[in-house]
Amino acid sequence: MEKEVWLQNLTWQEVKQKTTQSKGTIILPIGSTEQHGYHLPVGTDTMVANSIAEDAAVKAGVLVAPPLWFGWSPHHMVLPGTITIRPELLIEILFDIIQSLHRHQFNRFILLNGHRIVNISWLQITAERAKRELGVKVAIFDPAYMSKKFDNQFGWGEVGHAEEIESSHMWHCYPNLVKMDRAQDNPHHHRRIYHVDPKYAGDTLSYVPSSSSEMKVLAKKSGGTAGEPSKASREGGQKYHEHLVKRLVEVIAFLWDETV
Ligand SMILES: [Zn+2]
Repeated sequence: MEKEVWLQNLTWQEVKQKTTQSKGTIILPIGSTEQHGYHLPVGTDTMVANSIAEDAAVKAGVLVAPPLWFGWSPHHMVLPGTITIRPELLIEILFDIIQSLHRHQFNRFILLNGHRIVNISWLQITAERAKRELGVKVAIFDPAYMSKKFDNQFGWGEVGHAEEIESSHMWHCYPNLVKMDRAQDNPHHHRRIYHVDPKYAGDTLSYVPSSSSEMKVLAKKSGGTAGEPSKASREGGQKYHEHLVKRLVEVIAFLWDETV
């Protein structure tokens, strides 16, 4: 996070200049601090959001705001290191961040979600409010949904938690923080009705965070992992990352299009 695309690394004069140059565009990485199995750090969701944001911002010439390291993670409280913030507070915090930036001429916001489906509900509520009350453009960029067209030649299964997708991505971006030798597989079983996976035609989207007792089973079985991190690859992580950076640059161009 030392590059000059990060807002916190600039002086206010540099921020002002960059605001004009970027047509008022800024990426807000939003993640979580929560358990990620035996092999990934608790900051994983925020870290992957930061990496995608940083690389896309360099390419597109826009800024990245300081990340929001906390998300809605009540279901992961069964394991240490997890911090959960109530969604009603997250909505208020994120709205104030957008409002502050808007006061200084930012008017195109990309909410880059590293915490998958759990953050989406409150991000949508905040984005709608910002559009309505401030008249700004807001897009939500969710890596799981924005990678539906990713060429998965690596044998990865569906989205879970600390699974092969997330593990590969972290392995590419933060090799020193990943402990693949400790990873524990926990293969998915197909759920009959409710099944969340963006690449699955029957994806129901209607996710409700698991209860403590449901999560205790997961914690005991695999240390909090759902999926098969043994299928992770560093090369796959790099390809996946590059795909997402490209898509994010496309989203920025979409926000610049005055006809939409
Ligand atoms: Zn995660």
